[in-house]
Amino acid sequence: MATRVPETVELARLAKYPFLREASGFVLGEKVSLEEILLEPAYARARSLGKARVLEALEKGPASDRIAVATADQLAGLLAYPVARILVSALEDTYLIRRFALREAVSAEGRLASEPDDFVVHLAAEMGMDLRREDGGFRLHFTDFLRFTNTMRDTPWKLINQPVEGGYVVLRREKALRVMRNAIQRHIEQGLPLPVNEDILGAFRGDLAEIRGILMAKKATFKAADIGKVSITRFPPCMYNLLAQIQNHENVPHMGRFAIVAFLHHIGLGNEEIFRVFGDVPDFAADVTRYQIEHITGTSSPTEYTPPECSTMKSYGICPGPDRICMTIKHPLSYYRVKGRERRPRGENASTAV
Ligand code: SF4
Repeated sequence: MATRVPETVELARLAKYPFLREASGFVLGEKVSLEEILLEPAYARARSLGKARVLEALEKGPASDRIAVATADQLAGLLAYPVARILVSALEDTYLIRRFALREAVSAEGRLASEPDDFVVHLAAEMGMDLRREDGGFRLHFTDFLRFTNTMRDTPWKLINQPVEGGYVVLRREKALRVMRNAIQRHIEQGLPLPVNEDILGAFRGDLAEIRGILMAKKATFKAADIGKVSITRFPPCMYNLLAQIQNHENVPHMGRFAIVAFLHHIGLGNEEIFRVFGDVPDFAADVTRYQIEHITGTSSPTEYTPPECSTMKSYGICPGPDRICMTIKHPLSYYRVKGRERRPRGENASTAV
């Protein structure tokens, strides 16, 4: 039978992985309401750590060191997570959500390196992964491998290049943790944004204005600012993510490249403007880029391709999960049109943040 882990150690671990179900259970067990965390003077430290968490995600690279939380501060560190989720939600920005989720996931991946295998398997199960221990590493069901590596189509990550036994991909420990990073990132992204009510918006007005200012400055540095005449703020989450991946020098799978080129073409960008967006993709030589853009836009081919429908985007794993507008449309181009016509109303209830 497993030895009972002392509560302080449990809290220390939950503070490291606050996206776990047990973490929200712990907060509920403390009988602290979200409103108290957000508004009571006693939780000022948690609020300040929560804000720091969002700023970290925005201002620093995903792999840089985190702000250290002292042992005595672990409860505040844990409570900082729902605060950060509320702040991210209040700004309703896909780029910020993605950056926040990536930062949290990279941080968790680093911490998992020193966790025992049993805990790694436990966390994987919470992320919906069928991960099992294997001598010197792990094995992961091939469907989960495909699901969580679909943005990493480089040769070392192709299923055909993995040892597969009885339907399970055999992975070295660090490779298994890298796949878990993707699963954690997706888990966090899918839970955002939360509905945020006017009281909370009012209480955080100053902090939100500060974060929004930094967010806007960050976005202004996008080379995609070259795309000028179209509005990035009207992009659906899928296209926003693809653009952010390109800007972050991440490899974008072929279908993702196809989708963003066709999307940018259909909202009015010329080939040269699209080319500038793609200029920094590392594995993409300039002549190949131009060739593909000209082919997709119908410049050098008889077909002017349209971006894939939402159902296709989902089947390729490049739909990050629908938001409110997505629920009303079936095509990413419709999102751009709808967003141009409306302002978003706010939700009423913040009780799901913990
Ligand atoms: S539902 Fe459609 S528009 Fe929304 S993110 Fe997914 S693919 Fe894009």
